[in-house]
Amino acid sequence: MHDRLTPVFEEVVRRNPGEAEFHQAVREVLESLGPVVSKHPHYADAAIIRRMCEPERQIIFRVPWVDDAGEVQLNRGFRVEFNSALGPYKGGLRFHPSVYLGIVKFLGFEQIFKNSLTGMPIGGGKGGSDFDPKGRSDAEVMRFCQSFMTELYRHIGEYTDVPAGDIGVGGRELGYLFGQYKRITNQYESGVLTGKGLTWGGSQVRTEATGYGTVFFVDEMLKRRGRSLDGVKTVVSGSGNVAIYAAEKVYQLGGRVIAMSDSSGYVVDEDGIDLYLMKDIKEKRRGRVSDYVDERGGGARLVTGGSVWDVPCDVALPCATQNELTAEDAASLIRNGVVAVAEGANMPCTPDAVRAFQDAGVAFAPGKAANAGGVATSALEMQQNASRDSWNFAYTEERLHVIMRDIHERCAATAEEYGAPGNYVVGANISGFTKVADAMIAFGVI
Ligand code: NDP
Repeated sequence: MHDRLTPVFEEVVRRNPGEAEFHQAVREVLESLGPVVSKHPHYADAAIIRRMCEPERQIIFRVPWVDDAGEVQLNRGFRVEFNSALGPYKGGLRFHPSVYLGIVKFLGFEQIFKNSLTGMPIGGGKGGSDFDPKGRSDAEVMRFCQSFMTELYRHIGEYTDVPAGDIGVGGRELGYLFGQYKRITNQYESGVLTGKGLTWGGSQVRTEATGYGTVFFVDEMLKRRGRSLDGVKTVVSGSGNVAIYAAEKVYQLGGRVIAMSDSSGYVVDEDGIDLYLMKDIKEKRRGRVSDYVDERGGGARLVTGGSVWDVPCDVALPCATQNELTAEDAASLIRNGVVAVAEGANMPCTPDAVRAFQDAGVAFAPGKAANAGGVATSALEMQQNASRDSWNFAYTEERLHVIMRDIHERCAATAEEYGAPGNYVVGANISGFTKVADAMIAFGVI
């Protein structure tokens, strides 16, 4: 790490004890910024980078709610408003038992650079709760969401902070959240949340955007190497929103998805995962990957224990959660001849795994570039809401495609400019950083 950045990192660790994921995300960015600080030392002045590592505002609140048995349950809610240099705070809400402040801060920090990379006027933020929607009835999820929004509403707004979905927060949860916001504020403020349903202010392609965008990015990386997705064997981890639509786009571009997973295990289906069946199980019935194997029959098999990354493939798309792909998994993928890896999830590859891919010459796309299509399409949703317009699917998808090509180009060009050709991590971090830093410098010390 550059010697002007080491004390910044040490301060982050000291001031945010026990927040391992946040430290990891900050370290990854700071390790990339050496060349930019050497070339343009003013970026290390005026505590710009130190200020960037300190959220503008962090909100933690109590979320009490009543379950179906009449018992009072208690969760903790978070919203970290990290950086508003480029626009209103923007980033999803995660409902998962593992959520604590360190996870929300890591995600919010990543979001600053990702949102900058999209070229859209959005700042960075993230939120969520340690609530687990799994196994809860619709009525329980509704009561939880209503209680969560009863506090959150006072902190958000179209020009202030615009949440969206993430793990555990999909169309159902966003519906309950928006309904409660509308009721409390007595305003139909569509631009306050994104990922809304199509009949109430949502955008075409938002559901598909993160997964589709990841695969558009992979397509660009492969083109640069004179290859395409045609006939390419792909493994996708997870089977949630990002994973399903990444898989869908792989098929549309001529590839084949041979394995997917959830937290209970993974399925291998060499004939190609039947996405119609997987969507029905995951999106409609909220089932498990084991249901897929039971219903699909044929050669599909379930593996519990072990790692989905042991399945040989050309392209690997980690789309589940942070640190799910370790150095050992990377070694296994490399041994089996993987050509490209793109992070559909946020920070799914451990730092050692990333290094292994880079050392082995595997094309590697970090999440803040590869999965930026989701938030970019959220910004397109905000545009449509602001102009009271709605665009069709084809037009919106083309906008997403252009945005992803631009992000790829920007990352590749920046990496080259700073002496790290082909290193998308360096390209994404420096490109995302300079735009935010320039705006912060323009605003003075605030
Ligand atoms: P979903 O809740 O729709 O799906 C998450 C998937 O990952 C599920 O299959 C889930 O399995 C699996 N998973 C979650 N936690 C774990 C875990 N600890 N171990 C193993 N598997 C796990 O979430 P999304 O698809 O929306 O999000 C996935 C990732 O993509 C996250 O990192 C998110 O931050 C990132 N992302 C999402 C965006 C979006 O637009 N939704 C935008 C950009 C990034 P199970 O059901 O068994 O828990």
